Amino acid sequence: MRNERFDVIVIGAGVGGPTAGAILAKKEGMKVLVLEKASRVGGRDISFRLQDEDPETYRKAINDSAHTWYVKSEPGLQELFRQGLLDGYSFEAGIHTLMVTEKGRTNTCLSYLGKPLTLYPAISAGWWHGGKLYRFENGSERGGNFPWMDEKGRAETGKINSLMVRMSAQEAHSYDHISLKEWMEARTDNNNTKEFHYVNATMNCTINDPANISAGDNILMNRAVARAGKRFSFGGCSTPGLPGFVQIPLSFCDVIKENGGRVVTRARVKEVLIEAGRVKGVLVDMEGGEEKIDCPVVINSGLVNEMFQYIPEKHFPYTFVKRVKGFWSAGIGAVYFGLDRKIVQEHLTFIPKIAGREHGFDSDVRMGFWDSSGMDPQRAPAGKQLVDAYVSLTDKEAHNPELVNLAYDRMLAFMTEHYPGFKEALSWTLYTVSDSLVPVAQAPFQVGDARPRAKSPHVKGLYLASDSSECSMAANDAAVHAGIIAASRVSNRDYASEILPEYSRY
Ligand SMILES: Cc1cc2nc3c(=O)[nH]c(=O)nc-3n(C[C@H](O)[C@H](O)[C@H](O)COP(=O)(O)OP(=O)(O)OC[C@H]3O[C@@H](n4cnc5c(N)ncnc54)[C@H](O)[C@@H]3O)c2cc1C
Repeated sequence: MRNERFDVIVIGAGVGGPTAGAILAKKEGMKVLVLEKASRVGGRDISFRLQDEDPETYRKAINDSAHTWYVKSEPGLQELFRQGLLDGYSFEAGIHTLMVTEKGRTNTCLSYLGKPLTLYPAISAGWWHGGKLYRFENGSERGGNFPWMDEKGRAETGKINSLMVRMSAQEAHSYDHISLKEWMEARTDNNNTKEFHYVNATMNCTINDPANISAGDNILMNRAVARAGKRFSFGGCSTPGLPGFVQIPLSFCDVIKENGGRVVTRARVKEVLIEAGRVKGVLVDMEGGEEKIDCPVVINSGLVNEMFQYIPEKHFPYTFVKRVKGFWSAGIGAVYFGLDRKIVQEHLTFIPKIAGREHGFDSDVRMGFWDSSGMDPQRAPAGKQLVDAYVSLTDKEAHNPELVNLAYDRMLAFMTEHYPGFKEALSWTLYTVSDSLVPVAQAPFQVGDARPRAKSPHVKGLYLASDSSECSMAANDAAVHAGIIAASRVSNRDYASEILPEYSRY
């Protein structure tokens, strides 16, 4: 590496940085170097065939890459591996789905770069209300057919849906800094309508409390899903069990390598070197020792709330540092249920409440779960079922073992009480928790213009591209958005307009 020259250094082989790197390598002919501190490419998008791992490598990989940690399993982790109970299953670090499926930013951008994804769309959904399961297929709720609502409820829900879908992106952004609760209560007093939208918003934003969800960012997400022709029973998907969701960062990295760039793992950037307000390069710890690499452009895709660990904060105004350090994140409790036969029939299912304030949580806790092996049979051995379940948790709740375990107990209790045969079919369970599914939660004052900009106004040559920097909406599609924006700022070419349809551009 010592004698090689690079036009751009990307910190992190997750999604945002490699998206920017791939566009700059393929479309601008730039030579790109990606430096990743973990031992594998993927960031929070890592996937596993656990028969190829051992317990300690698995625990370390989810920690290092995905801000996720193992909590417990039944039987214990060593036993799960020793008995081969996980053999033949394909796992994600948490639940991994793309809301807008093939029409979202991730696949649109990868298709633009010549690497379309293989996706298995969800085509059925379940909704629990009043102790009863309502089933939908192929978007059958289109037109506002919600059987548990009366006519007034359906009309109100339809009214709110169409307000969101018809809204301009500019108007949606004008609601960035007010809460969904405030926005909704000014427009309807119908409890079923509110419940429907609050549950959807939790699934969109990974935040339970509608008072903590940005109305603008949630509207943008609903608007994109509907304008792309998706519904809650006809949106979301699984990626193929092999290689799993990690195919997304791997594909972006492949584009970089195919266009003369390099991707180096076990390479931790210790410091971004800055002189007189301008990026000079990076100091990196890698196999073979410490190395200084000169480069005028650095794109950071590490979590913004961790950026000052390696980009000295003295180069930024105090107010910026304080704001970035003050962001709070949204986490999840993710549970994998291994069943010896198919019990859950719907691809994805929503439950408005499994716990609440009365148990010590900030708000009603909602649950979602996926029949992962139903969408892609490669995710479980023949005849068996893998169900991935999750609840949203604030970062504080994620670090409270008592609350985390309480949520797990309620999740398991719901499944055993409501799905006949579930208890008998359950072969094993695996429980994990993450505090950073969305590192800068989509809360009022944390989205839109509150996010750090893709092109740093403080340091020349420094760019940010992650799901916690300048972008809209959530998670993977947000990281891709951030990468496209960063590539546009580096090159002065409007890639957002070139790559993305209107509904996912802003
Ligand atoms: C449990 C869980 C479940 C999720 N479920 C979904 C889902 O269902 N749908 C969805 O769309 N998204 C989901 N996400 C979110 C999705 O994974 C992220 O949005 C996406 O990976 C963000 O990409 P990124 O590039 O912003 O960050 P990351 O993927 O976190 O990548 C950043 C990379 O930078 C590296 N890095 C950091 N500092 C340094 C340094 N100093 N030197 C070198 N490398 C460094 C990190 O190791 C990491 O690999 C989930 C995330 C988690 C944790």
